[in-house]
Amino acid sequence: MNDDDASRLDIEGFEERSVKAIMEARTPEMLEEQRIRFLGRKGEITEVLRSIVRLSKDERPVVGGRLNELKQRLNALIEERKALLETSDGDEEPFCGDPTLPGRRGWEGGRHVLHRVLADIKEIFFGMGYSLATGPDVELDYYNFEALNFPPDHPSRDTQDTFYINRDILLRTQTSPVQVRYMERHTPPLRIIVPGRVYRNETPDPSHAAEFLQMEGLYIDTDVSLADLKNDVTFFIHSFFGSDAKVRFRPHFFPFTEPSAEVDMSCFACKGEGCSICQKTGWIEIMGSGMVHPHVFRYAGYETDRYTGFAFGMGIDRIAMLKYGIGDIRRFLANDLRFNSQFWTEIWSGVVE
Ligand SMILES: [Zn+2]
Repeated sequence: MNDDDASRLDIEGFEERSVKAIMEARTPEMLEEQRIRFLGRKGEITEVLRSIVRLSKDERPVVGGRLNELKQRLNALIEERKALLETSDGDEEPFCGDPTLPGRRGWEGGRHVLHRVLADIKEIFFGMGYSLATGPDVELDYYNFEALNFPPDHPSRDTQDTFYINRDILLRTQTSPVQVRYMERHTPPLRIIVPGRVYRNETPDPSHAAEFLQMEGLYIDTDVSLADLKNDVTFFIHSFFGSDAKVRFRPHFFPFTEPSAEVDMSCFACKGEGCSICQKTGWIEIMGSGMVHPHVFRYAGYETDRYTGFAFGMGIDRIAMLKYGIGDIRRFLANDLRFNSQFWTEIWSGVVE
């Protein structure tokens, strides 16, 4: 039999209509009506069976067999539905779907790897007594650069590095402006972490993105020293990467801290032997840090002879890449479920922390 004959007999159409009508019957009486309509002696199936004579001798048994199977299936479906309708007390809506269809697979999401890493980092700092501060992504040049002691001719103020909205407003290039905003409204002692998205006018490549997550830390009190900075940073690295990590501070320059240092940890992959992750140096750069520059205190209105403090900042994307061996920063925002779902080891609570 070919497809034309099948459509002439319209077995599919008959099947579809009868299954639908059976599943939509709400009472045993309605169900019986449908049984008579489709399977009764004068029912539609008899019509279809009659039309078999139009087929060739060879085709008849094939189509006949098919119709018999269908008849059995409909009878079984009616019995099943009847049992269901008779047991339901009438208040409840009976199941009206087709129980022979396969079930729909439940969809379960998961926490994005960056949020997961950030949550772990925050947990460590909350344990050390830090609290959370946030600020706007669209920022004034004043907070992003000027109050952080960036001179007017500093290269990062160039439009090639920064997305300017107009002369005074930009997309923040770092989370540090939140420090200034926070200092304006609070007096020491203060101890905060500032996670957030930052933006740079970069051409994306495996290690650069135009937007990424950063986290800043700030601790100010009357007697904060470089030793406290080393202590907190080392505690974080040991908690996050393992207590056998060696930590070193390398002198560096940032406009808003003095002295400033970049923080390296011994490579967790090769334990300092040298490998591709650490570019054969045995060390991995983790963050920038330093003692808050007195100029920044002055902008915030703090007495520079009374308070001291430290600040540090790290790229969350970079930390996640190191921790999970991810080779391309662009993967984080590519929205590829094959990548994202690798990190879904816990059920997503629906709360973005
Ligand atoms: Zn290494």
